[in-house]
Amino acid sequence: MTVRNVRPWGGPAVDLTLAGGVISKVFPTGAQSTGAKPTGPTDMTRGDGAQTDERPTDVVDGRGRLALPTFTDAHCHLDSNRVGLPFRPHTGGPGVWTMMLNDRAHWRDAEIGITERVTNLLGLQIAHGTTTVRSFAQVDTDAGLERLEAVLAAREAHRERATVQVVAFPQAGLLREEGSARVLEDALLAGADVIGGIDPCTLDRDPVRHLDIVFGLAEKFGRPVDIHLHEPGDLGLFSTDLIAERTLALGMQGQVLISHGYALFDDPTKVDGLLERLAEADIAMASVAPGGRSRLPVDELTAAGVRVGLGQDGQRDYWSPYGNGDMLDRTWQLAFTLGYRADALIEHAVAVATRGGRSIVDPQVTRLRNVEDRPGLAVGDAADLLLLAGETVTSALMDRSADRTVLRAGRVVADGLRLV
Ligand SMILES: [Zn+2]
Repeated sequence: MTVRNVRPWGGPAVDLTLAGGVISKVFPTGAQSTGAKPTGPTDMTRGDGAQTDERPTDVVDGRGRLALPTFTDAHCHLDSNRVGLPFRPHTGGPGVWTMMLNDRAHWRDAEIGITERVTNLLGLQIAHGTTTVRSFAQVDTDAGLERLEAVLAAREAHRERATVQVVAFPQAGLLREEGSARVLEDALLAGADVIGGIDPCTLDRDPVRHLDIVFGLAEKFGRPVDIHLHEPGDLGLFSTDLIAERTLALGMQGQVLISHGYALFDDPTKVDGLLERLAEADIAMASVAPGGRSRLPVDELTAAGVRVGLGQDGQRDYWSPYGNGDMLDRTWQLAFTLGYRADALIEHAVAVATRGGRSIVDPQVTRLRNVEDRPGLAVGDAADLLLLAGETVTSALMDRSADRTVLRAGRVVADGLRLV
């Protein structure tokens, strides 16, 4: 497969040869047919089945569009969405527990079944340029494993088009309702990849017991951990310390993530110590680019060596009307809410939304080395590409064109916002 005439990260036009699921050659556009030397190694060592079998139909005309790595949605709740269904006014109240009860009261009443809803939204995400997803699936005493099974089924339906990592997520806490910890363990046995946790202080009001259950299961099953942290100020910092302690004690550096961390960076006198703590335990972070005062400074995290990714959170669901399956829109929101204007910072937002998240879901993928790093389009990188119309990366993020082609593992999986 050859992708002709694309501009990696907005640079000079090149042709890319894709083989064995990776980029195997990079040529200046037009050079390949005239016999000029490629810029990468000419012979990639590849495994069985990686032979190039190029026919005329195996050529994608890039038409001078940008080439970017595909997006990774590092934090979404596919199991709660109502995307594509009749709009429903918001009925939630304040606070995580109240919002959870609102979702619990309504999620079964949607116009179509949950598996269909999840599968449709995952397809929409792929069509818009996302091929790696970390989705939560709520597991609690009300839903049991029903929502998890829907996400696992959607993953199976799209397995040729996307890599989906599923987090067993105890949205209702682990200590407030009898049997919650049991359901979490059942979810791991049923195929969840990651163990979730949530607000150990403010929701369960017993951070030691909450984190002992989460990290106990991590140790027992050898799985990564992803903890929602909406806690304010010093309480959030205290929970972060407890999470870091356990991460180091279990040797789980690189396998733990804190989602949101809304208030962690509010006190400027504590930011340096916090960055150091996260880097020491190699705890990653995920942002959903919220509005309001509390934001994750993704450039500072990257500069400190902390992996950071972007996600869409719930999308048009019982929690919030925001979100539409398009990570390009959410990346615009990240850049906008952080007040980025310089091209280098806006491009960094795109790097976070693409390779930043990918290095969380797949720790084998090299993390962003610094704010200027624009990886993902060299020989040996995964052939997971988004071709996007635009003059520069910044202008493309502002314009968010529908002229997109999505490749995953060297195959076109979507074109013009539709699955192929
Ligand atoms: Zn969430």
